[in-house]
This record gives sequence, C-alpha cells and structure tokens, in this order.
Amino acid sequence: MGDFHGMEIVFADTDSEFRPYLEEVTRRGRLVMRQCASCGLLRFPPGSACPWCMSLDGEWGEVSGKGTIYSYEVVTQAILSGLAGQVPYIVALVELDEQRGKPREGDGLRLVANVLKPDGTPEDEARVGIGVRVEVVLAELADGVNLPQFRVSAEAPEGSVWRYGVRR
Ligand SMILES: [Zn+2]
Repeated sequence: MGDFHGMEIVFADTDSEFRPYLEEVTRRGRLVMRQCASCGLLRFPPGSACPWCMSLDGEWGEVSGKGTIYSYEVVTQAILSGLAGQVPYIVALVELDEQRGKPREGDGLRLVANVLKPDGTPEDEARVGIGVRVEVVLAELADGVNLPQFRVSAEAPEGSVWRYGVRR
C-alpha cells in the first residue's frame, strides 16, 4: 500500500510479476531485469516465461540503467486527478543499452517511465527527445518500494535528436 500524489496504490499479494520486480529493484537499489536461465536473455516486462525460448527458469540480472529515449509523449491533460498538478509531464519509452538489437534486429529492452529533473519534478519538454541519453533514478513510490524513473544524463546523443514541434 502506498500513496502516489495523493492516490492510493495497492501492491497485490497475487501480483507475481511486478511486485517481486519492484521488491528486487528496491532491495538492490538498482535496476534489474528478469534473465532467462536457459538462453541468458533479459526481458521486460518481467513475465514468468522467457518470450524467446519459453523457459520458466530465471533469475534477476542487474543492468546499467543507462539508455536512450526510444519514443515519448508529453502529457498535458492528466487523466488521474492526482497528476493534475504535474502537467505537462513526460512519459518515455526508454531503450536500455543492454541487448539492443537482440535477439533480433529491432528488439531491445524497453520500459515506460517518467523523465524527471534531479528534484523529482517533471523534466522540461525542451530537454527531452528521441535519441536523448538517460539514466535510471529510483523514485520512492511508497514505503519500501522504489519505482525506476529516468533523468537526462550528461552523455551526448549518438545521433540527431527528434523533438515534437521542431522543424528539421
Ligand atoms: Zn530464454
């Protein structure tokens, strides 16, 4: 049970995938991904079976937490009342450095997260874009539960950056 911007969050005992994921992230203090014990590939979301070889055996593998914004949106109208004071905020699809293009071209480890300033408030839209380098930061979601979020890193982008509303 937790509180997120005044909204009650429940971590169900029956949640066999995300609850242990968040518990492991919190316990280690760093980002982890489910790793297949058979083929060795990491996966996200942390489902019970490997999507490539179907093995049910796995463990938690640590990742660097560094990645690139693969896609993003700017939320200007909050659906949830608790987030009304946060708009505009960034929801990004972050591709981690590990396993880019594996096991097939176009595959990768990607997760959805907010992009935040160091003070925990939403990052400015002008600093976000496809191709911008980011790094994970663990934000306290509730007592004893940390949620992986991201912040813009000091690393230069690998190529050009695409942003909404910017004519190229
Ligand atoms: Zn596998």
